[in-house]
Amino acid sequence: MTTVLITNAKILRDGQLRSMEILIKAGRIAAIAPQVAVEASTIDQRFDVGGAFVSPGLVDVHVHLRDPGFTAKETLATGTLAAARGGFTTVGAMPNVDPVPDTPQRVAAQVARNQAEGHVHIAQYASITTDRTGDELVDFAGVKAAGAFAVSNDGSGVQTAGTMLQAMRGAAQAGLPLAAHVEDDSLTAHGVMNAGPIA
Ligand SMILES: [Zn+2]
Repeated sequence: MTTVLITNAKILRDGQLRSMEILIKAGRIAAIAPQVAVEASTIDQRFDVGGAFVSPGLVDVHVHLRDPGFTAKETLATGTLAAARGGFTTVGAMPNVDPVPDTPQRVAAQVARNQAEGHVHIAQYASITTDRTGDELVDFAGVKAAGAFAVSNDGSGVQTAGTMLQAMRGAAQAGLPLAAHVEDDSLTAHGVMNAGPIA
């Protein structure tokens, strides 16, 4: 049972930043106080964080790890090390990888790699439709059972309202949150500005 003492930490309490010590026993916070009562000889590790802000781990529900398929941009290791550096202990990985996690088998393979190579917790998105840009819905119950926590076609909008309606019904039935990339290609015409005096 490891006992850790963090000293000189700033934490948010009652709406104010206060200087505190945090005592952690066996992975759980045991005490937070200006000076915690603890026998010095029982402390295994002591960290003076020099007045740094200490908070629960942050969560980012929209990240691009790009691994596999686009590892020149990011890998599971580099993306999650950057997350850890910034205080993020859980990230939601979008399915804009190749192959797209659009079947239970592909989701299971991705989740296994995430657990082996990630430096923080990775919650994995499956796509809403096959290959992330197709019109055929994924097997929502199957991808959930394989470890997906939500579905999204990140980077591409589902292009027909009828498909999106079925997707929302199917995702709801499976208990999967659906994160929509709301872009209708019939309106955007590959542009990035509205027609008008500013453009
Ligand atoms: Zn994105």
